[in-house]
Amino acid sequence: MTTAAAYSVSAPDGRFTKTTIERRELGPHDVLIDIKYAGICHSDIHTARNEWRGTKYPCVPGHEIAGLVAAVGSQVTKYQVGDRVGVGCMVDSCGECEPCVFGDQQYCERGATMTYNTTVAEELQPGGHTLGGYSTRIVVTEGFVVGIPEGIGLDEAAPLLCAGVTLFSPLRHWNAGPGKRVAIIGMGGLGHVGVKIAAAMGAEVTVLSHSLSKQDDGKRFGAHHYYATDDRQIFRDLRGRFDLIINTVSADLPIDTYLRLLKLDGTLVMLGLPENPLVVRPFSLTAARRSVAGSNIGGIPQTQEMLDFCAEHGIGAEIEVISADRIDDAYERVIASDVRYRFVIDAATM
Ligand code: NAP
Ligand code: ZN
Repeated sequence: MTTAAAYSVSAPDGRFTKTTIERRELGPHDVLIDIKYAGICHSDIHTARNEWRGTKYPCVPGHEIAGLVAAVGSQVTKYQVGDRVGVGCMVDSCGECEPCVFGDQQYCERGATMTYNTTVAEELQPGGHTLGGYSTRIVVTEGFVVGIPEGIGLDEAAPLLCAGVTLFSPLRHWNAGPGKRVAIIGMGGLGHVGVKIAAAMGAEVTVLSHSLSKQDDGKRFGAHHYYATDDRQIFRDLRGRFDLIINTVSADLPIDTYLRLLKLDGTLVMLGLPENPLVVRPFSLTAARRSVAGSNIGGIPQTQEMLDFCAEHGIGAEIEVISADRIDDAYERVIASDVRYRFVIDAATM
């Protein structure tokens, strides 16, 4: 058993406190990672505060992990001590169902083991549920570890492990590229990486933000157009314009209004996960054979493909590095949309 420092929360309205956790003994296929940085995703907040129900306490969130390999099991072939590596939202899956065989482990028919808050056997994680990256060390089976290319700093790479692949996957699936008009709703942690990736793929990128306060940044990230959604006129001006709209907003939005911005055969993809159901008028769909879809993170091969793509195009997340004792404050600022554009915890401060 290895011990690690961690920050955990014990109740939905609790504050983060420093604690010591145990990680399992290194198995033959396991990699022990010294965590250097962990991003703060809005999903961490939804979970820590039990907004999706079913949070297991004590909860150690964190699924945007970047670090260095500290030890490898006897049969590990992909990694060596010292390698720059990342871990995203999943740490295991059945490996046998069709999605797993295809490399889409996030759609595992038996349910993937998420990096935190999934019930597992005691021998896999003492305590009986997975504990994430707000920690100094983690043990992960090598098939769920990805390599971070030299061209990206570990700090700016960490958010790519969730935010990066969550945008890369639908952009690829719905063929974002030259000649395609892509709109991204919400320019937060997910959205800002999406702007960079979609622009690098060659699409014409529009940001739909609730104000113009981040417009200059959006243009710097590669957006061609930037609109404030509090100006209702844009919903008339942009009607029928987009091939693909990706909604990254963590709060309820009038989705039906946005649907009308899609052209014939366009798709609106839900990434943001607010608690309430969507209201969609069937007429908004039938009028132009439009679709509403959803997408969940990305598989392990695609996570590696995304990291290689980002290194090739000089893409990293825009980050604010914080010490671990500032997690509670960072959560408040994420909720207030006061983050430029991802908080990353420096594990050295644990
Ligand atoms: P974030 O950094 O908080 O960004 C969300 C953005 O949404 C904000 O920056 C803001 O953008 C906009 N927004 C927030 N509150 C709003 C409101 N009341 N009205 C209108 N716009 C608002 O969060 P994130 O980490 O990017 O995550 C976003 C959502 O995606 C969360 O619900 C998270 O759980 C979910 N998520 C889903 C997946 C998946 O696989 N599907 C993966 C990761 C995260 P503007 O200021 O530009 O308007
Ligand atoms: Zn996430």
